[in-house]
Amino acid sequence: MGNIKTVYEDCDILVVGGGMAGTGATFEARYWGRDMKIVCVEKANIDRSGAVAQGLYAINCYMGMQWNENQPEDHVRYARNDLMGLVREDLGFDMARHVDSSVHMFDEWGLPMMRNKETGRYLREGKWQIMIHGESYKPIVAEAAKKSADKIYNRIMVTHLLMDESKENRVGGAVGFNMRTGNYHVFRAKAVIVAAGGASHIFKPRAVGEGMGRTWYAPWSNGSAYALPIAVGAKMTQMENRIVLTRFKDGYGPVGAYFLHLKTYTRNGKGENYEKKWYEQTKKLVGEYIDHHPVPTCLRNHAFIEEVKAGGGPIHMVTTEAFQDPHLEVIGWENFLGMTIGQAVVWASQNIDPKYEDPELTTSEPYVMGSHATCSGAWVSGPEDLSPPEYFWGYNRMLTVDGLFGAGDTVGGSAHKFSSGSFTEGRLAAKAAVKYIQDLGDEKIEINDKQCENFKEIIYKPLENYKVGRNEITAGTVSPSYLLPIQGLQRLQQIMDEYVGGIGTNYMTNENLLKKGLKLLDMLQEDLEHVGAENYHQLMRAWELKHRALTSQCVTEHTLFRKETRWPGYYYRGDYMKLDDDNWHCLTVSRRDPKTGKFTLEKAPLYHIVDEKKNEAS
Ligand SMILES: Cc1cc2nc3c(=O)[nH]c(=O)nc-3n(C[C@H](O)[C@H](O)[C@H](O)COP(=O)(O)OP(=O)(O)OC[C@H]3O[C@@H](n4cnc5c(N)ncnc54)[C@H](O)[C@@H]3O)c2cc1C
Repeated sequence: MGNIKTVYEDCDILVVGGGMAGTGATFEARYWGRDMKIVCVEKANIDRSGAVAQGLYAINCYMGMQWNENQPEDHVRYARNDLMGLVREDLGFDMARHVDSSVHMFDEWGLPMMRNKETGRYLREGKWQIMIHGESYKPIVAEAAKKSADKIYNRIMVTHLLMDESKENRVGGAVGFNMRTGNYHVFRAKAVIVAAGGASHIFKPRAVGEGMGRTWYAPWSNGSAYALPIAVGAKMTQMENRIVLTRFKDGYGPVGAYFLHLKTYTRNGKGENYEKKWYEQTKKLVGEYIDHHPVPTCLRNHAFIEEVKAGGGPIHMVTTEAFQDPHLEVIGWENFLGMTIGQAVVWASQNIDPKYEDPELTTSEPYVMGSHATCSGAWVSGPEDLSPPEYFWGYNRMLTVDGLFGAGDTVGGSAHKFSSGSFTEGRLAAKAAVKYIQDLGDEKIEINDKQCENFKEIIYKPLENYKVGRNEITAGTVSPSYLLPIQGLQRLQQIMDEYVGGIGTNYMTNENLLKKGLKLLDMLQEDLEHVGAENYHQLMRAWELKHRALTSQCVTEHTLFRKETRWPGYYYRGDYMKLDDDNWHCLTVSRRDPKTGKFTLEKAPLYHIVDEKKNEAS
């Protein structure tokens, strides 16, 4: 360890993760905290990091209040409906009432927006989505963050949060390492905003072997957003609410623009509309939720999964009609070129021209995230003016650890934020973090050297494991004394797939399976002490795996706790196949005791802040 250099940085606000939420937080922190020292630390390079790295073709969350297109209440109703009734409406409303202002800034900063030629308004793809030429989306928001921060650190993976020694349950910064130089970095901060994105690759992916990197959610999103707070005892919510996506097969190309703008539709292998076939069966499981409009995303997945199980596959997207219109054909291709080039490449490699052949769809492996059509994440305080007492403890978007804030995928209970909503939530968190620091006044955060030295030893241990154990093998990669990150990852994915409801079981699980899964995850945790890393890049892989494993434990505990099938199509509890509003119209909240590693779970009340009023159209 002696040769590893330690670099210290003291700041007021530390933003962990420079994706959509992190850039929003860094930008807004400067606005309210003119004299504060603001640092953003990012695992990749903020110019091209996070889920928006490749660009996007649509901003999926824009109210259009200036033209009276939608109001925040409408969005709350929409998200609530899509999540089968369970969202934190205070958080959703708060995001929705501010999101338009973020989009207007993107416009000002040069993001090319598509406009309706007749009205001059932003061109709508759907009720909530507006279309952009979004290849440059991420560099544009990154520039705003770069101009706002005192310092941006790229290529540093944050592995642990530091805790203040002078006050219990208060954060004091974070530590990590630079995967290029190997330097150990200690960031002492008065407030930390975790914005480290969601989690892919905790369930076994459909694409394995060489294709492993081909997932829907960004393969580099490894659940740090959850593992960092879980490790220090922050409460989490709705972690069972993993998401499964219906996407174009193999390339995971998005279907939103196809459904909404090109008006394409799906058919089974025989060319039938299969969704109608499953209506009665679904109604028996979820009751009147199937009659909601728009049909909740999970229920549409459910029809797909049932049809394939019944032998009706493959399911196709009918593109051959829309693509006869040259304008729509161009849009169909551009949609991929702006954000999922891989899908166009997959079609080219399989000789699929969607003008003449309807491409196949598939349902993805599950992902854990808090900003898409799902809401796993941290249990945070809402805004003062909206939140009931159970949802409010002083500072907007603060977790149950003092001084620790979250935004974007990190925050649970508030679905359908997407890129613009995540950026907005970063802004909201930063504003509150500035206020928190101002209220601290002269109070000092104390971090002693021992805490930092302990973490240093823990972080670099995989290098040591490898160095000591490598001479025990002469060839190959299987060692008696260490496991490599890829081996640990595959073991994790198999456990999650087979016991916690992945693709291998058609998303089915039950109490017995989950308990066995938890046992295996415990054993995996023990073995992860022996993960070996050959170099700094593999050290990052080792820590990504550890974060994924902790996230997975939390997901499994939550899945065991909720004794119903709330979101068929995302996962099924075979022992409780029906939605049960009498007992489970509530949020689930967990806490892992940092000392014992044991989780406790409880129900939290669900408040409907916005009334029902009207039916939403997509
Ligand atoms: C395939 C896909 C398609 C999407 N399509 C759309 C769309 O069309 N329109 C739309 O509006 N939204 C879309 N979204 C949603 C949008 O991308 C997300 O809502 C948004 O990016 C979430 O923001 P975030 O900051 O929480 O996460 P991210 O933007 O993913 O940022 C997380 C950041 O944290 C960094 N990080 C992770 N771990 C660490 C660590 N340990 N230490 C330091 N840094 C770390 C990552 O490198 C990354 O930069 C899509 C998402 C996906 C995955």
